[in-house]
Formats: sequence, structure tokens, C-alpha cells
Amino acid sequence: MKLPHSDALVVFGATGDLVFKKIFPALYAMERWGHLKMPVIGVARSDWTLKQFRARAFASVKHQDGFDAAIFAKFQRRLRYISGDYAAPATHGALRKELGKAKHPLHFLAIPPSVFAGVIGGLGQSGCARGARVVIEKPFGRDLPSARSLSATLHRVFDESCVFRIDHYLGKESVQNILVFRFANTFLEPFWNRDYVESVQITMAEKFGVEGRGGFYEESGAIRDVIQNHLLQVVGFLAMEPPTGTNQESIRAEQVKVFRKIRPLGRGDIVRGQFRGYRREDGVARDSKVETFAAARLRIDSPRWKGVPFFIRTGKRLPTTMTEVLVMLKPPALGKLCPGQANYVRFRLSPDVTIAIGARVKRPGEELIGDATELQVVNHPHGVEMGAYERLLGDAMAGDGTLFAGQDGVEASWAVVQPILGAVTPVHIYEPGTWGPPEAEELTTGICDCHDPVWLLPHGKKRKIELMDAQTIRKSSRKIGRGQKRL
Ligand code: NDP
Repeated sequence: MKLPHSDALVVFGATGDLVFKKIFPALYAMERWGHLKMPVIGVARSDWTLKQFRARAFASVKHQDGFDAAIFAKFQRRLRYISGDYAAPATHGALRKELGKAKHPLHFLAIPPSVFAGVIGGLGQSGCARGARVVIEKPFGRDLPSARSLSATLHRVFDESCVFRIDHYLGKESVQNILVFRFANTFLEPFWNRDYVESVQITMAEKFGVEGRGGFYEESGAIRDVIQNHLLQVVGFLAMEPPTGTNQESIRAEQVKVFRKIRPLGRGDIVRGQFRGYRREDGVARDSKVETFAAARLRIDSPRWKGVPFFIRTGKRLPTTMTEVLVMLKPPALGKLCPGQANYVRFRLSPDVTIAIGARVKRPGEELIGDATELQVVNHPHGVEMGAYERLLGDAMAGDGTLFAGQDGVEASWAVVQPILGAVTPVHIYEPGTWGPPEAEELTTGICDCHDPVWLLPHGKKRKIELMDAQTIRKSSRKIGRGQKRL
């Protein structure tokens, strides 16, 4: 059932970090394209005036490329601000009044999960939930039981069809391109399976650390922050069977089937790390066991993927900021023709959007030997994609839930990581600027020949990420041969 278009946006936690970094820029962009046609009501405890709230919005967007004062002036006229406790009837009464004739408000909860229940209850009791929908941000719970309890809280007031769970990864152009590239091209299907794929490797590397948000990170860690949601979503898109259509239900249904086929992670499937210096960050316990790095080996018990390891890895203070998927194919029968890497398909999801196929061509000269080269299918530099929040907010306003996580998928993905949550495995210290603790290499030992994205961006070198040409690959392959660190 398609929901009617929203006619007001309410942002709880309007004074916070997420709103400043993502929501204001997304709304301003929507204003620029003429897509924002409703009042925007900020709600928070801070005793701000509307003027202060507008100043905060201005500070958020003023440095954007092509900032246009006239567009901002139009945007700021939409802003309203209500100050009050999130659960207090007075706050919700003021909101009901401010909503006026709006019949289908969209409530965006940019607040810590601990405050959710009070807001949801207040929306229900005040009548602000009538005809409305709610958008919540990941994390959707801290584990499987709390995800179920959050869902029960939401469902007390909102029907599941009116709950939009944002995992902004699903709104990324590059992530959606995995789906399109897989299912809009016939040539991929014959080799996209256990017969030809040796391994799948997904790396989400961040050069930066916790950036003053140590307190927040202490509550989450890499597994909760990234693996349970973003990286499993990517696994879902890579591994799913063709959906019956491009609508929300069929895509979600296939993704959930993948999550349910992934064996819950055991202690031997995960290596956790923590960068040296993390414990000195503000808000971090001096003996913290929270992981800032995690590498995991997944097994998917489906006919298509049985026996193919999926390696996922994420970390902070790594050598670079980059997210990349590498689907390595098995070596061809005439291995002598291609020493080093076999064919592969590479999806770079950020900072640029690239889809490339690693192939081999004859090295010029007398030798009958293949040289590595890449067929670039897509290469968009950073910045061409529509912002993920802009897209997702637009979809939520329009009532289109295709790119949002469903409760069954959320529960199935928590079930994958549930056994390894908490400090059930040791946390290994690694040096900032490295690819995590050496112990992570043990995950791949004896299973397959796995590569760091370092082969695309050599260790320690601050060079611009650029298109690979055959020469770069040759050089990088030689470096791998000299024993660079691997996953
Ligand atoms: P913040 O910590 O910035 O909190 C948002 C606002 O909530 C604050 O401005 C504050 O407003 C209010 N608040 C904070 N702590 C409490 C508390 N203990 N009790 C009541 N109110 C409180 O959060 P973010 O903006 O970073 O994140 C909001 C949500 O989005 C969270 O669920 C987070 O996990 C999620 N998220 C955030 C991302 C980000 O980049 N920041 C990325 C992805 C998800 P006031 O005091 O004025 O009421």
C-alpha cells in the first residue's frame, strides 16, 4: 500500500550531530531542487530560539559548493522550533498545535535510542501519530532482543508500513549499483556462484578515528556500528537471488533470505582489534575492550554460495578511507598464463563509484603470459551521487519504503552477529595507519589468496586514488608478491 505524501517534517533531536551533518544539508539540497514543500519542525530539549535554530541550519550548509543565499532564505522560512522534554505531554501538545492542518507528518527520530520510547508514546497520546510515519536511524537496537523490543515499542503506535528504518547505505548510488549491475547484465549470472567465485572480500576502511565521539563509540564498536547493518546489507545485495521485481517487497524478501542463510558467526570467525590510543580518547574507558576494527569470515549456506568465504572487514585509523568489494574468481586452468591474481569484479563504493572487471591480456613481447588490466564499467568521481539522506528523506516523504530496512531483515542480521557481541573474543591492539592486527590474517590463511585494497593504494603513500592502469596493477602485484600484509 502506497502511503500519501507527507505534509510536514518533524525532527526530534534537531540540535544534534546527525541533523547538523546530514539532515540540514539534505533538506537544503531538496529545497534547491524544489523537492521540499513542507514545514520543518525541530524538537529538542535545548532552550533555543527559532533564530538560533536557523543559525544552526545556516552554519551547517553555508560552506557547501554553490551555496545560494536566496535558496537558504526560502529554506529557513520553513523552519520551526519547539523546545521541551521528549516525553513531556506539553512538548507533544505544542507539536500538535504547530502541525496545524498537516495530516501526514513524517517524524524523524534523530535522538539516542534510550529516548525513543518516550517520543513514540508522546506521539501516540497527543494524536501526532495519526496518519503519520516515523523514520528511525540505525542502530535498530543493540542486539537481537533489544531490536525486538524496539520494534514492539514502535508497533504499539505505528503500523510496520509506517516505520522507515534508515540505513543510509541502502540509499547510496554505489550500493544500488551492485543490484543493477548484477541483475541488468546477463553475462554476470553464469559465473556469479560457487563454481567460479573463489572469495568475496568487502573492506570498509576509515583513516579517521572516533573524532571526539568516544562516548558514543563505547556503546557500539565496529560490529554494531557497521557490520550488522551496512556491511551485511552489501553482502545481501551481492549474494541475493534475482528478486521477482524491483519493488520494496521483492528486494527486501531476497535480502532477508540471504541473511537467514548466513551461519551465525562463531568465535573463530571474527578477529577484533583496537587502535593504539583509543583508550586515551574522551569518553572511552581506560581498559575498554570495544573494537575499532573487526574482520569476519561469513559462510552462506545457499546452493549458490556454499563453500565460498565472504570476508568482511572494517576499521578506524586504517591507512585510507575507502569502501570496496572484490569478488575474486577462481584461477583459470592454464594458471601459467596468469601468475598473480585471477579475474575479479571490483565495486568501489566510496569515495568514488567504480565498477571494474580485472582481466588479463597478453604481455607485449615474446613471452606467452597474461598481464593484468581492468575493464572499467563505471567511474564516477566523488560527489556526483545524490546524497543518500536526500534520497532517503525524499523517499520517506513520498511513502516509498524500498530503500529502508525491514524488521525481519534487521532481526535476521542481528541473529548473524549475536553470538559474537560483547567482549567474547580478545581485542588485539593495532598501530594507527596499519591494516589492523596481524591476527586478522589468520581468517584467510589456507582458504584463499586475499588482498588488501592496499594493492590499489600502496601502504604509506599519500597518493590520489586514481584509475588503475595495467602498469599500476603490475607494480602492485609485485608488491603483494613481496609479502605485503593481507586480510
Ligand atoms: P546526538 O548525541 O548528537 O544527540 C541528538 C540530540 O539528542 C542532542 O542534540 C540532544 O538534544 C539529544 N540528546 C542527546 N543525548 C540525550 C539524552 N541522553 N537524553 C535525551 N536527549 C538527548 O546524536 P546524533 O545526532 O549523533 O545521532 C542521533 C541518532 O542517529 C542516534 O540514534 C545515532 O545512533 C544515529 N546516527 C547518527 C549518526 C551521526 O553521524 N551522527 C550516523 C548514523 C546514525 P537536546 O539536548 O537539545 O535535546
